[in-house]
Formats: sequence, C-alpha cells, structure tokens
Amino acid sequence: MAKKLTPQSQDFSAWYNEIVYKADLADLSPVRGSMVIRPYGFALWENIQKNLDQMFKDTGHENLYFPLLIPMSFFEREAKHVEGFAPELAVVTHAGGKELEEPLVIRPTSETIIGEMYSKWIMSYRDLPLLYNQWANVMRWEMRTRPFLRTTEFLWQEGHTAHETAEEAEAETIQMVNIYTKFARDYAAIPVVTGEKTVGERFAGAKMTLTIEAMMRDSKALQAGTSHYMGTNFAEAFDISFNDKENKQAFVHTTSWGLSTRFIGAIIMGHGDDKGLIMPPRLAPVQVVIVPIFRKNDAEAKEAVMTKANGIANELKAQSIRVKVDTRQGMSPGFKFNDWEQKGVPIRLELGPKDLENSTVVLADRLNEAKETVALDRVVGIMADRLEQFHHKLLKRATDFRDEHSIEVDNYEDFKASIEGNWLLVNHCGSEDCENQIQKDTKATPRCIPLEGIKSDGNCVHCGEKSAYERKIIFAKAY
Ligand SMILES: [Zn+2]
Repeated sequence: MAKKLTPQSQDFSAWYNEIVYKADLADLSPVRGSMVIRPYGFALWENIQKNLDQMFKDTGHENLYFPLLIPMSFFEREAKHVEGFAPELAVVTHAGGKELEEPLVIRPTSETIIGEMYSKWIMSYRDLPLLYNQWANVMRWEMRTRPFLRTTEFLWQEGHTAHETAEEAEAETIQMVNIYTKFARDYAAIPVVTGEKTVGERFAGAKMTLTIEAMMRDSKALQAGTSHYMGTNFAEAFDISFNDKENKQAFVHTTSWGLSTRFIGAIIMGHGDDKGLIMPPRLAPVQVVIVPIFRKNDAEAKEAVMTKANGIANELKAQSIRVKVDTRQGMSPGFKFNDWEQKGVPIRLELGPKDLENSTVVLADRLNEAKETVALDRVVGIMADRLEQFHHKLLKRATDFRDEHSIEVDNYEDFKASIEGNWLLVNHCGSEDCENQIQKDTKATPRCIPLEGIKSDGNCVHCGEKSAYERKIIFAKAY
C-alpha cells in the first residue's frame, strides 16, 4: 500500500505539498522555484482556459500575443509600477555571447510593453475601446515558492483594455471581476467573495483593484483573480493619447485583469479532503473513471468486462462526458480505487464478472463516498445528471463551509481570539498604518471590501476611528 496522505487537520500545508505530487498535477523542476505541470494538471488548466476564454470572447475581447522580453527602461516610466515589481524582476543582461546595450526584463506582467504599443495603435476615439487579452507565461522572482500558489514562472491570462472615459473603464473592471466570480462559482464550484482591495493592497499603479477571494479548507483566503482600473496612469507614462469627440487630445483610461495557474491551488485547497483532491465536474480532466475487475488468468471474463467497459465509455463520450477506462496492468482494483480517489475523479464505476451476471455496475461518488448498485442499462442515462448534482453539492459544501467560518467581530480582543480559522467581518478606518498593525499582531490582512455585504455599523475594530467604508471589510490570513 502507498503511504497515506498527511491528514489536513494535522498539517494542511504538508497535505497540500503531498497531494500536488501524488495526484500527478506537477513535479519539481531542476530550476528552483519553477515547476513542471504534468498532463493531469495541464488538462485541468486547459479546461480553465477554454471556459474562461469563451467568456472573454462572448464579452467582445480578442486574443493577441506580446513578446516575453521588455526593455528595462519601460519599467522606469511608471514610478509605482517599477517600485512594485523591482525586487521580483528577472533580467537578461547577456545574449548572443555579448552584454546587451540595454538589459531586457522577462515580463512579470505586460502593462508597459502593451502601453508602448497602444500609444502607436490608438489615435482617435474611433480606435476605442481596445479589448485585448493574452494567454502567456510570466516570471516573478519569488523567494519562497510553492507549486501553483507561488512559482517564479506561471501561466495566466492578462486582459488589457483602453477606453475613452473613466466610467467605461470602471464598468469594464467590474464586468471582468464579475466574469471571474461567475467562472469560479459555475465552473469550479468555488463561492468566492468579490470585493475591492484597500489602498495598501492595490496592484502597483492601479486606482482601483477588484478581487475574488476564495476560502480554503483551512479557512485561509486565497486571492484567485484580480481586475484593475489604472485611471490614466499608464496612458500618461506611455503617452497613450487620442483625439476625442470634441477634437481635443485626451489620455485613455486603461484596465488590466488576470487569472493564473494559482487558480489550480484554489481548486486543490478549496475542495480537497484527507483522501485527496475533489475535482469540480465541469473542469475535471476525467469526470468518470471505469475500473474493470477480473482475475489475471481468466481471459474470458477479461474480454467480457473490457467489452462492456469500453461500450459504456463510448456511450458516455457520445454525451461529451470525459471518461477514462483504467486499463493499467499489474495493479489491484483496490490500488486503482485509491489512486482515482486521490486524483478526485467525481464518479467511479466498478465493473466485474459478478456485475455482468447481474446486469449491474457499482457507482462510487467521490463526494459522499457512497457506493450504489445501478442497472447497466440505466448507468449511461443518469450520468450527466449525476455530474450536475455533484457540482451543486460541491458548491453547497464550500458555501456552507465559508459561511460557517465568516464571523462579525466588533472588538480587537475578539478579533485576536477568532482570527485563527475564520474570516472576520469588521468595521475599519481605512488607514494603512492600522492595517499594518493588525497584520503585525495577527498575520491577518484586509482581503477586500465586499461589493455586497453587511453595512458598517460602528468604529474601527482596532483603533476606534470612524469606519472608512460603507460595508464591513474582511480580514483573514491568506496564501
Ligand atoms: Zn483603524
């Protein structure tokens, strides 16, 4: 028997590190801080990509591609941006056997090079809005890395749009965070909280940062996608100006928004349990696995079981259900059951000679761990509905968990006593110093000012100054 996973309650962090490798999502790379995404992990990313990409296109966005290397001087044009990214930049100084005249930065994000190109492409209000997105890799030289959550190189999409007015750009920023919210809920079964970042937590150079925050099974928060309104900061730094309708020169208003392979970390930690991953069916690389059972030397039984297993698989495929027949040799059925449980496949079918005799199949549900016997002539017909139910049960489980661990506190003693294992909804004064003091005392940071939520009803939970926000804000420990 393979070594069991460390239980989440014993050491959540050890559980995470073990399951990433055991479930074949990723492997260590020879270069510190980067990772190899293995086929099972990459198939999950492809499903994330495919569905999000369609949502972007449905709202009028087009994909394009910018180069990996950006001249160093571009970063120096927007002061806050360079300040925010300087410590994480990886820089190419030599190429072709010579030192380069100007060092080239491996993109940590592409606002600067995109700004440079937009200044050439945008001349008139007729050129607006520009609604572009790119799927790419980026590099941020992180000191402490963890697979999917924080790696020096990661995959993402970055949307970059330019608009005539502040109102239009703000509406775009909100539209895109709403798309992330819907995607998280409807595809990943993750009930994120959508909100605005406080000033101290904003993206470098942004005027407004919107975020989706997901609660993990250890109750910590994970920022799973962000959408930024940049005002005219980048337009001024890169001279992206246009002739407006009154024939005057004006700067465009820009936005950027991104979701990365970090989202895989949210799926792992937002749903997984002591047995391993639990894949949300709408993104699962394998939705149904069929494990054929027969004795090694019984060729007749093997043929009958395999024929039926392949037949079921083909009928499920015809319904666009992602199905796999586990034909691996030299492994016991018990080992295979365990393996697919670890990989979080929502539904497993077990089929052996006895089942064939009775015209039945055993159906195992990864979420409630129940096994039931289903008639062979019914199993294909019920599957799409079972996967739908699985999605809704998973979403409900995550929603209940989030709500049970979200509590209102109105004094700092209660704050300190409840911050472990909870998200705290509090009145806050909005001061960065006050946020920093809370972080120093408790390691909790302001996650967001929810777009919808409970109205502020008193003074700052820490310093007693007047609340700065209309709604109570969320403090939590975060990844
Ligand atoms: Zn305060």
